Amino acid sequence: MEKYEKMLESMIRQFQNKKIMFYGASLFLENFLKKHPIIKNVIGIIDKDSNKINKDFCGYKVFPPSYIETLKPDNVILTIVNNSQEIYLSLFDTIFSKHPEIEFSSITGKYSTNVKYYCPFCDKELYFFDFGKKTRPNVKCSVCGSLERHRFLYFIYKEIIKRNQNKHLTILHTAPEKCIYNFLKEQSNIEYTTIDINPEKYTFANNCLKMDILDLKFPPETFDYIFTNHVIEHIPDEFGFFRECFKVLKPNGKIILTAPYFEDLEKTLEDPAINTDEKRLKYYGQKDHVRKYGKDIFDRFKQYGNVTVIEKNYIPSDLRSKMNITEKENAIIISKQ
Ligand SMILES: [Zn+2]
Repeated sequence: MEKYEKMLESMIRQFQNKKIMFYGASLFLENFLKKHPIIKNVIGIIDKDSNKINKDFCGYKVFPPSYIETLKPDNVILTIVNNSQEIYLSLFDTIFSKHPEIEFSSITGKYSTNVKYYCPFCDKELYFFDFGKKTRPNVKCSVCGSLERHRFLYFIYKEIIKRNQNKHLTILHTAPEKCIYNFLKEQSNIEYTTIDINPEKYTFANNCLKMDILDLKFPPETFDYIFTNHVIEHIPDEFGFFRECFKVLKPNGKIILTAPYFEDLEKTLEDPAINTDEKRLKYYGQKDHVRKYGKDIFDRFKQYGNVTVIEKNYIPSDLRSKMNITEKENAIIISKQ
């Protein structure tokens, strides 16, 4: 909860000259307001619970959601963590879409520009939150959490599903991302399997299997596709990764892979002397990465199979800007030789 308190503190600082309302007379907010009595520019609290409406909440009056239109705050800050996405969507449909002048923020994320972008997973224009160690403004869908690369992959996956609509497709997805998982599990023509070494992290996936990518326990030639994003840079045995993937892929099977790589690096950096968290963070950029891919990544993967690269212009530029995909994005297809 501490990180949400910090987020809320920073938002209050950021919006100190604006009229703010909090949405959600929650226990979190109660604790927060006990520590931060009297925030001058807060004009009230919104809650849909009729037992709370018109009552006092830590010195502020509670109003029903429709009062956002009456009281016209500059900014509504959602102070709820659980189900925040559903609440946001319903507020969006009922209020924010009619009143673009009212800004919206959430303790689960904030955005620097009050512009809406298109999320293909949500199939809606929504606010996108800022995200990243080096902050990228307006890139994370406030509802499903999709990032630029997920929205790019959406169209690749969709094309695969469409092209094979009369076939029964078997797909293995490693370390499944929530937005992609929710999209793929709804597709009627695919048999969808997800795995991870720590499946308990994936609370949204009720059937994620515990499995090591270096020891896949599926019968040979089970899958048409393996979708794997930002996994390989964590796997010390790159050869073993491809050996296992190709073992469980059907003869014409394909791996659709994304991984971070750096165009200013001629040759992939992988050195046994980089063997501590500290060194890995320094040289590879993350303490759980085991190498830093350079621009030789495509040539490097040619030793394992046939390589095709899908570049970002796979998606028309106007659609890319609608989705706020501004930096390089691509996906590597490696097929069995
Ligand atoms: Zn979304």
